Amino acid sequence: MALIEAKNLSKSYGAIRAVNNVSFSVNRGEVIGFLGPNGAGKSTTMKLLTGHLRAESGCAIVAGFDVSDQPVEAKRHLGYSPEGAPAYGEMTVREFLRFAADLRGLADPAERVRATLELCRLNEVAAQTIETLSKGYRMRVGFAQAVIHDPAVLILDEPTDGLDPNQKFEVRRILKDMAARKAVIVSTHILEEVGELCTRVIVIAQGEIRCDESRERFLQRGEDLNQVFRKLTA
Ligand code: ADP
Repeated sequence: MALIEAKNLSKSYGAIRAVNNVSFSVNRGEVIGFLGPNGAGKSTTMKLLTGHLRAESGCAIVAGFDVSDQPVEAKRHLGYSPEGAPAYGEMTVREFLRFAADLRGLADPAERVRATLELCRLNEVAAQTIETLSKGYRMRVGFAQAVIHDPAVLILDEPTDGLDPNQKFEVRRILKDMAARKAVIVSTHILEEVGELCTRVIVIAQGEIRCDESRERFLQRGEDLNQVFRKLTA
């Protein structure tokens, strides 16, 4: 069974057709690199999949639950880190994760916070307020709240944006460790991430899917991925 299904999703903002009839599905073990230029519709598609925006037409199914009709059930299986990984800056990392665990009503919140701090290698900053963290750590906190309930589906909007190479490596390493058990969508405009992290690539431009294929097939399109990308999104 597919863990994520986007079925003919469409969404406009006024006259702008941000997402136009987008369909795809994602199975367990797949890590989708969701690529597209700025304004292509990546964030909007992710918000439709997570139920943060309502589609005008089409539907999104997460772990078998329609995100509009059964939002509580769908969200139980879904972790989402929005663009910029927003968090409450005045909370410490530990407090914020505890807050996220309590919001979700987890049975053993203290244990989940402990395991997540360890998984995301956040122990050394657990007692620091989030506003005092470097960008790399802040992104990891956003990532940590998305995985606190060990969801089957993970949707991450530019989790490595603006990070230095070491910080990027760290986020990719954590993702790779857990990817086999989950269905993951990662938006990025960093083409090198395709080779390092993804099993499949979906390219979107002007709200429409331009390519949906395995990493191997995508990498065979040409030596110069920037050129491949420009052609696909022109
Ligand atoms: P991406 O994540 O690929 O950069 P977005 O999904 O953010 O793309 O945006 C797709 C299109 O929708 C763009 O033209 C953007 O300007 C527009 N858009 C996004 N959010 C809003 C909004 N809240 N109001 C109006 N237009 C928006």
